[in-house]
Amino acid sequence: MEASRFPKFNIGEVKTPSFIIDERALEKNLKILNDVKQKTGAKILLALKAYSAFSTFPLIKKYLDGVCASSPHEAKLGCKEFGKEVVVAAPAYKEEDIQELVEYSTCIVFNSFNQWRRYKKIALEHGIECGIRINPEYSEAPVELYNPCSAYSRLGVTIKNFEEEHLNGIKGLHFHALCEQSAGALERVLEAAERKFGKYFSKMKWVNFGGGHHITKEGYDTNLLCNLIQSFKKRHGIDVYLEPGEAVALNAGFLVASVVDIINNGMDIAILDTSAETHMPDVLGMPYTPEVVGAKIASSCTEKDKKIFKYDYRLGGLTCLAGDIIGDYMFPEKLSIGSKIIFTNMAIYSMVKTTTFNGVNLPSICVQRLNGKMEIIREFGYEDFKRRL
Ligand SMILES: *Cc1c(COP(=O)(O)O)cnc(C)c1O
Repeated sequence: MEASRFPKFNIGEVKTPSFIIDERALEKNLKILNDVKQKTGAKILLALKAYSAFSTFPLIKKYLDGVCASSPHEAKLGCKEFGKEVVVAAPAYKEEDIQELVEYSTCIVFNSFNQWRRYKKIALEHGIECGIRINPEYSEAPVELYNPCSAYSRLGVTIKNFEEEHLNGIKGLHFHALCEQSAGALERVLEAAERKFGKYFSKMKWVNFGGGHHITKEGYDTNLLCNLIQSFKKRHGIDVYLEPGEAVALNAGFLVASVVDIINNGMDIAILDTSAETHMPDVLGMPYTPEVVGAKIASSCTEKDKKIFKYDYRLGGLTCLAGDIIGDYMFPEKLSIGSKIIFTNMAIYSMVKTTTFNGVNLPSICVQRLNGKMEIIREFGYEDFKRRL
């Protein structure tokens, strides 16, 4: 595991389960994104869908230009807690949602010309910059669940349905077709988008390249990204927006849990005070196996590794769901009741997706500030469970 992904905090003090956000790791990502901004003049927004822990917004807004929201709640959070640009993009807006969105957002992206015609008046009256989401009908998204360009996709207007005659008042076009992908994948999506919609780009003020750019991942080709943005801007003479979620808080958060019991049914199984189902649902949904600090995922453990990582455990959750399994891991030492387990990369798409299924309590939220101080931001209890029902 990369050294940077080892948390430098004293987990002895942390109650479990807890999410811990490491602001130094967050800032490391922000500096990479800022570099892209400086080199290209592109604007970069935080996609709240992936990460909305607003106690860290004061740090993030030093570097990024605003947020991308998909609902009135996200837009309100962005407006009140972030306070820069609030770009909204969702598959459809209800009448009452639009009333709220025009109060909290600076830009609204419509997913159909139907919706644009319906809300054009109110949006323009409020000085909202309006855009249309287009579907380039090309994506290399690795999983169908995350492919906005698959057959019958409801996301974005295809060239066939594009109403050129209704562009009056539209300031930008938006596409989102990537998922944890490289600059090379962007290059090919961009080619498809330009082939189909290129003649409209120069009539716009901006084009938004969406999210899914894995910019802060090791090995990402930021030079290629910058070249693509620069040459695009030169070709069309317009601004470029990016709205990554994952890349902003990649590897900046941990979920710390404790071993509650250890049983054996053909293998050792440690039951934790957390759960895949309630605290890290993408582990089951994506699905994937998260990394654990100081341990190895069993399936990727070599014979050599096994000389050090001798003890294998299945890590399971607290809910009654039979499949509430986080994964099989090899540890260098035996686990015991009370042992702490630290899952990495848990700030994104985990904190925003937690549930209280089975009445399992939500993890506390802690932030380790840039100065090294650990702050407990929020703890949850019975009322948080009850209030939703
Ligand atoms: C999900 C989403 C994002 C953020 O995607 P990441 O993969 O987290 O970077 C940005 N824009 C739109 C429209 C999205 O749906």
